[in-house]
Formats: sequence, C-alpha cells, structure tokens
Amino acid sequence: MDDFRDLYQQLILDHNQNPRNFREIPDTDLLLDGHNPLCGDRIKVYIRRGDKRITDISFTGSGCAISKASASIMTTILKGKTFDEAKKIFDNFHRMITTGDANLEEMGKLAVLAGVHQFPARVKCAALAWHTAMSILNDKTHDIVSTET
Ligand code: ZN
Repeated sequence: MDDFRDLYQQLILDHNQNPRNFREIPDTDLLLDGHNPLCGDRIKVYIRRGDKRITDISFTGSGCAISKASASIMTTILKGKTFDEAKKIFDNFHRMITTGDANLEEMGKLAVLAGVHQFPARVKCAALAWHTAMSILNDKTHDIVSTET
C-alpha cells in the first residue's frame, strides 16, 4: 500500500511540476475562469469543440499541487472524448473524490486522486478544473465558476 501511495504522490508531483496542456487555446470562445476561494486556486479552462467532441482542452492559472495536477490529468483524459463521455467520467470522478466509492481500475490515471476524499478541504481543489470544464460543456460560459456556490 505504501508503494502505491508513493506512486500516486509521484504522479501528482509530476503533473504539478510538468502540467500537461498548460497553455491557452487562442481561437476558442469556450473558456471559463474557475476559482476556489477556500484554497486560492485560480484556473482558466479552454476547450475547442468539433462535432460534440472535445478536440482540444487546456488550462492556465495557478493553484496548489492538487488543483494543478487534477487539471493536468483532466486535460489528458478528456481530450478526444464526446461531451456525454466527459460528463460520465466527471460523475464517476466526482463520486470518487467525495465518497471514495470508485472502480479504481476503470478510473485509470484519475485513481491517483482517490485519496482526496479523506481530506474534505482538498476535494474542492481536485474538483475545480472539472467543475469549470463541465460548466463550459453545459453552456454556462458567462460566469466565474466558484466552488463556494
Ligand atoms: Zn487548492
């Protein structure tokens, strides 16, 4: 179990230090700011869509290691997915980080964040990028997403 925990911590550290898809997508109007006031995490998520599918997704901003790693892993998972697939993955991910209930094999890389449910204060850090991305997919492009609402 300790080996697994080490592996998970290394993955989070790696995504925090070398975040994937950490860039703007200049020519899209699907972008939204996300803010977690509890921790001070501020990120912006960008999505490019083609035919109900996420053809590109990226993020910018700053935050704690959990929020950044979660955003980074999210972009690698959601790229190429349909909106419906993305929402289903979010539902599973959200259940995992809030209750710990998850099929870790099915969760793939997201399983590194399974332990977050033991730390309620960090759940919002892990969920921030996802809430922001889901708000974009649900056409709520006019507001700042806040984990406090
Ligand atoms: Zn945070």
